[in-house]
Amino acid sequence: MNKKIWLSPPHMGHTEQNFINRAFQENWLTTAGSNVDGFESDLELFFESSRKVIVLNSGTSAIHLALIKSNVNPGDEVLCQSFTFCGSANPIKYLNAKPIFIDSEPETLNMCPTYLEAAIKDRLTHGVKPKAIIVVHLFGMPANMKAIKEISKNYGIPIIEDAAEALGSKYKNELCGALAEFGILSFNGNKIITTSSGGALLVKTIEEKKEIIHLASQARDLDIHYQHSKIGYNYRLSNILAGIGRGQMQVLNSHLEKLKQNHNFYKNLFKNSLNFSLHKNPNKDYDSNFWLNIVIISKSASFSNLDVINHLSKYNIESRPLWKPMHLQPVYKDDLFYGSNISEEFFNNGVCLPSGSSLSEEDKKRIVNALSFYI
Ligand SMILES: *Cc1c(COP(=O)(O)O)cnc(C)c1O
Repeated sequence: MNKKIWLSPPHMGHTEQNFINRAFQENWLTTAGSNVDGFESDLELFFESSRKVIVLNSGTSAIHLALIKSNVNPGDEVLCQSFTFCGSANPIKYLNAKPIFIDSEPETLNMCPTYLEAAIKDRLTHGVKPKAIIVVHLFGMPANMKAIKEISKNYGIPIIEDAAEALGSKYKNELCGALAEFGILSFNGNKIITTSSGGALLVKTIEEKKEIIHLASQARDLDIHYQHSKIGYNYRLSNILAGIGRGQMQVLNSHLEKLKQNHNFYKNLFKNSLNFSLHKNPNKDYDSNFWLNIVIISKSASFSNLDVINHLSKYNIESRPLWKPMHLQPVYKDDLFYGSNISEEFFNNGVCLPSGSSLSEEDKKRIVNALSFYI
């Protein structure tokens, strides 16, 4: 059997283990130390010092803390893109708040500004003002941030940018994750870079960074004994895992370059296909990192997305449907949704294709060979 081609496997550089060893040498086997500080400065440098970065144990924890800092309390409403991974939405429930799910627009697959504004207007007529907007740059494609930021400003509702899949993506030449009040990143095992598990929250000021570190470290007050004036969380990243992150930062730019090449490979592969349409940058404002390449099967095709996925699995090639929208998930069936069937259609007809930065020429040949049956 050929070795398996994964969607987005971990791709280590050459220095990760040196940084891990350093944690051992310094005997800082805890949630603080030189790797934690170093990983944060590496990320701050990557974001051109436009943001302060706090590294955490997951992207989901980062969203939880961003919601707390947006003053979301039990019973409050939070607007959230429906087309996403559950990590974007679950923290709303951790706070006993209510998600209001918003459908996507076809161009970006991300939050539709028209449905967003319609939802806000409707919630206002019901006497509630939502506390935050969680917008996602799904599969690395930036959302329509100009329109969404305008709405955020007009109604005074802050934005939390879920850039878990969009490290290195740019909108109008600015990095995703640094386009709004809060940004979050994920470093779990299949993201652009990985620390095996991990995440980060991006904020604007050093004061906010200090407050978040406090909240993420069990909210211990400054005192000799353990003193707590509020409930905190145990959400900081381990100094060992931060070492993996430091090593990964050294190869991030070359990985991003590889992701662009993968996209060009798929562009070429599908350029004359009537059965598949590849999801591309809608115009020059959008610069996706193409974390995953997405194809939509056309209505006229004689096969379904699941046929393609099953066919590829016979060749030991991983592929999968796009995220199942949150408003269609059993656990969210009682929550409000503003939209139509846009994200649902993408879910029903889309396929995510192998797109890792370690995808080899040999892997590409196998993908071409396996897909030629359908193209
Ligand atoms: C990966 C991911 C997250 C966060 O995931 P963690 O596994 O908690 O780091 C959040 N939102 C989206 C869209 C993601 O893909």
